[in-house]
Amino acid sequence: MPTTLAQNLRSAAPAAAFPAGPLMIPPAVPDKYDVPSLLGNKARRRFHVMAKPAGAACNLDCKYCFYLSKETLPHGPATGRMSDETLERYIQQYIQGVTGDEVVFSWQGGESTLMGLDFFRKVVALEKKYAQPGQRIENDLQTNGTLLDDEWCAFLKQNRFLVGLSIDGPRALHDEYRVTKGGRPTFDQVFGAAKLLQRHGVPFNTLTCVHRGNARHPVDIYRFLRDEVGSTYMQFIPIVEYRGFERTAPQCWDNAALPKDGAPEARPGHPHSIVTDWSVDPDDWGYFLTRVFDRWVSRDVGKVLVNHFETLVAQHLGLPSQLCIYGEICGKGVAVEHDGSVYACDHYVYPEYRLGRIQDRPLGELAFTRDQVKFGYAKNETLPSDCRQCAYLRDCWGECPKNRIIRTANGEPGLNYLCRGLKTFFAHALPEVERIAARLRQEPGQPRRRL
Ligand code: SF4
Ligand code: SF4
Repeated sequence: MPTTLAQNLRSAAPAAAFPAGPLMIPPAVPDKYDVPSLLGNKARRRFHVMAKPAGAACNLDCKYCFYLSKETLPHGPATGRMSDETLERYIQQYIQGVTGDEVVFSWQGGESTLMGLDFFRKVVALEKKYAQPGQRIENDLQTNGTLLDDEWCAFLKQNRFLVGLSIDGPRALHDEYRVTKGGRPTFDQVFGAAKLLQRHGVPFNTLTCVHRGNARHPVDIYRFLRDEVGSTYMQFIPIVEYRGFERTAPQCWDNAALPKDGAPEARPGHPHSIVTDWSVDPDDWGYFLTRVFDRWVSRDVGKVLVNHFETLVAQHLGLPSQLCIYGEICGKGVAVEHDGSVYACDHYVYPEYRLGRIQDRPLGELAFTRDQVKFGYAKNETLPSDCRQCAYLRDCWGECPKNRIIRTANGEPGLNYLCRGLKTFFAHALPEVERIAARLRQEPGQPRRRL
């Protein structure tokens, strides 16, 4: 009997994909999870890659960093730098694997500026070498800013890199966790980097981690970023770390041991808390977002972009979520490590979620394997009934699966740790979001991408 294309594809799949993870045995008959790989190049193929050329290596030692532990994770990416050969393979495969007129290269870490400027000169040269006619290649670089100087800034400007600068607020709030390997504060260097980027005209946005130490200071942080740093695009990321995240992959935890919503163990600071001490309290996350939202609404709509607000308005204009965490499904953003190994997501760099290596199988195939498609659908398919019945389901979709570390009051697993705060935020913001969306619908040329 002739084999089907699906069977051929499966037999060609590396046996090591998802060696010990919670996902899955391929079915005898292809189903919806096989569709992207069955269609292959005949379908539109859009995905995004976050590359980590220096792995988890960093010159800082931020206490809450979820990535430093990857260096010692058993069967993880370990330490190392991306070789010239892997870099070229990566750039070629990414450009060839994506359809559409734009390919966005995101450089992250660890601290990717540790690779040095010559590495990024090679990046730009290789992108030019492999770019297809009419294709726009963009680069963004996430950095702690401490290694930037005039030469770096001139390069970033000349090659149109968008920089994401990690800064957690005014001096005292920033320095609480963002310190050097020797424990010294970094505020002056990072603030200086923001000014340097501005002097050189390098576009940058700010990335602020919201944790237990700064979450009760939303207005101070917002004002500081807007008025002193000059940020016009603010990204706020809640720090939520399962206690034991260094070794235990998401969804591989013991569901029966997860605390119920509202239990003291479902908050930071308790001796048996489910999260690290520096994780943001769920109610504080709601407080943070609502207070920043009020500031933004009172005078900055259309002038300052805030990731959570921009995407909420976009969703109420009928556009897709711009943040994967608020999308119905995910799985369109893979991570490529220094050694060429590919993982389901930046937050799923664990052996259980390793898709393969670009040395063995093209990136454009790895990004659409059955494992990865199933990973993306699981965001919706594993929602607990509390989420399914929630008034904010279409704004939230259970937020990020890596944060689904508590149980509902009925004991059902899979509820998001941040749920309480998210409900506070949505309840507070949605009436105004609806008004903004209604106003935007009246304007010519709507919907538009930026507010
Ligand atoms: S797992 Fe979380 S961070 Fe990763 S793609 Fe899904 S929603 Fe985004
Ligand atoms: S607000 Fe809570 S219950 Fe509602 S969809 Fe989000 S995580 Fe689920």
